[in-house]
Amino acid sequence: MADVPVIAFAGNPNSGKTSLFNALTGAHQHVANYPGVTVDVKHGRHTLEDGTEVRVLDLPGTYSLTAYSAEEKVARQALTDHGAVAIVCVVDASNLERNLYLLTQVAELGIPVVVALNMMDEAERMGLGIDLDRLEGLLGVPVVPTVGRRGEGARRLIETAARAASNGDRPKPFEMSAHVEEALAEVVPLIEGAVDGQPERARFLAIKLLERDPELIADLERKLPSEALDRIDEVRADLETHLGDDPEILVADDRYGIAAGITREVIRPSASGRARTAERVDSVLTNRILGLPILLLMMWALFEGVFRLGAPLSDGIELGFGWLASVVSHAMPDGPLRSLVVDGVISGVGGVLVFIPQVLLLFLGISIMEDTGYLARAAFVVDRIMHTFGLHGKSFIPMLLGFGCSVPAVMATRILNDPKDRLATILVIPWMSCSARLPVYALLIGVFFRPEHGGLVLMSLYLLGVVLAVIAARVFRGTLFKGESAPFVMELPPYRMPTARAVVSHMWERAWLYIQKAGTTILAMSVLMWALSSFPKPPPDSTHSELEYSIAGRAGKTLEPAMQPAGFDWKLTVALFTGLAAKEVVVSSLSTIYGVKADAGEEGGIPKLRESLRQDPAMSPLVAYGFMVFVLLYIPCVSTVVIVAREAGGWKWAGFLVLYTTIVAWVVAAIIHQAGRHLLGL
Ligand code: GDP
Ligand code: MG
Repeated sequence: MADVPVIAFAGNPNSGKTSLFNALTGAHQHVANYPGVTVDVKHGRHTLEDGTEVRVLDLPGTYSLTAYSAEEKVARQALTDHGAVAIVCVVDASNLERNLYLLTQVAELGIPVVVALNMMDEAERMGLGIDLDRLEGLLGVPVVPTVGRRGEGARRLIETAARAASNGDRPKPFEMSAHVEEALAEVVPLIEGAVDGQPERARFLAIKLLERDPELIADLERKLPSEALDRIDEVRADLETHLGDDPEILVADDRYGIAAGITREVIRPSASGRARTAERVDSVLTNRILGLPILLLMMWALFEGVFRLGAPLSDGIELGFGWLASVVSHAMPDGPLRSLVVDGVISGVGGVLVFIPQVLLLFLGISIMEDTGYLARAAFVVDRIMHTFGLHGKSFIPMLLGFGCSVPAVMATRILNDPKDRLATILVIPWMSCSARLPVYALLIGVFFRPEHGGLVLMSLYLLGVVLAVIAARVFRGTLFKGESAPFVMELPPYRMPTARAVVSHMWERAWLYIQKAGTTILAMSVLMWALSSFPKPPPDSTHSELEYSIAGRAGKTLEPAMQPAGFDWKLTVALFTGLAAKEVVVSSLSTIYGVKADAGEEGGIPKLRESLRQDPAMSPLVAYGFMVFVLLYIPCVSTVVIVAREAGGWKWAGFLVLYTTIVAWVVAAIIHQAGRHLLGL
């Protein structure tokens, strides 16, 4: 392990690092067309042409190497700590100037650098003629043109990086303005002693000291003699008084200058028709007035599609499970074992797997929106609204991920620099309706609502979650975490025609998690629920049904009074309780609870569940809607609670989350139920 050389991939968010990484290592990372998705460092292996193996790191995207955000810190640490022998700096050729800013910093680390000039297809389509030789000359490092999403140039890139590493070609740092260079000339010799064995890092550290980088200062203060520290402070102060600006800003200005200068030298811009079209499209999609209605329309189309196309596909899978259940029923002798397999395993796990088409369709829609670049426009539209609520617009990106699963969404909040923004966002992410809730909606909407209303009912639930999340975040931001929200400029990636392969692998990646969960958590919970709802058996003369007599039934009956105001009877109460393990389990539990009495020959599974739900006098569209709202809002699943405790820095916040979500869920469900009864005159 230790002697496998490491090559790290750094670059701006969305520059194509992960695509290149995947092309080389064959790993399936999440490739996304909006900033900030890779937060952790990913490792992969690649074998070079000469047979040696290298380890490749995919770093979080960053615009710079200061220590302002978690991802910048992660990237910086990974670059210096993993002992990378070379850094590949991935540069978006269609956005050269902004991307070169990071390169000016990477070049200072004292490690060989190779530039991957990615998105060459994009740059060509935009009509940007980039003079590669000149660029190589000005940067002083090898430049390899690539098209990450098709893997073009990836091999040449890694071979070039390996060669640069073995030759030890360290880039020559870019020259700053005269005053900054003078200051550096004073500071570098002072710290050379403290960078034992790595004199090439002295310049990087000297710049960080001038910038007063909090992390590195703390580290160096321990290593440097106090006279040196005093002298460095003097140099800083001189620089500041001379130029009338914070050295940090002076350094940043120099870097912008270098990036802009190089870009001007190597690019022959021509107003391309494509860029103008994108601008025109953007002016509609992100329009102040039209933007939101368009977004809502897109969402409605998505949910309508999920619901309409999903239902017949579900029916097909359902038939399959029905057939399986009847085959097994006939093949096995009557008894608890048959009941376990048919009523516990097949109906529990089958009940969840039946909704795979809806999950796939939802993810397909989101993947297409994401890969074309529309999702970033949606974030832009929402950002404006969030801002009027005093929230940070960047929060929207993790919140969007929450539609898939809260766990990665909570992790993605690391892209927020301000800890207050971050906490407020973490606490509301669980209300972004995750894919595990979808089976519950799909089941109940299918039973209690007319098909032509399905898409709207579904959308109303998702919207309710978003609206409550925004309101809650606003409340938290105004009470628990007071303070200004940092401004945010979201860049819009170019529109891209997504490749079918990217969209499908994207969709599959997420759906696979769902299927795995069905085979593990949900299987285990189904068996447990079956046992709790089958035992103990009532005596022959009992007036109670088997379910009422069972442990689950009794627990439900005990809790029932507390749920009465929301209209949930004991059966629904039991199902809600089991949903703490994972929300899909609510469906499994309902099918076990309502399906327990399926006898051999009789049709069990989901059709039976639907029929029993429809006939249950305690159920109605109103109760079903309140129930779906409760499922949306109440305690997130165990995995989410755990990740919140980890990411928010303590069980205190996880406990708070559990408490407030449940209270809000109960209150909102009760209001819906009581108001609904009133309005409907019940
Ligand atoms: P990262 O944020 O740097 O890891 O970037 P990703 O690898 O996730 O890529 C961001 C988006 O750009 C995805 O939609 C990719 O499919 C797309 N992409 C990556 N490389 C290229 C490329 O060379 N050309 C084009 N047109 N798109 C690319
Ligand atoms: Mg990435």
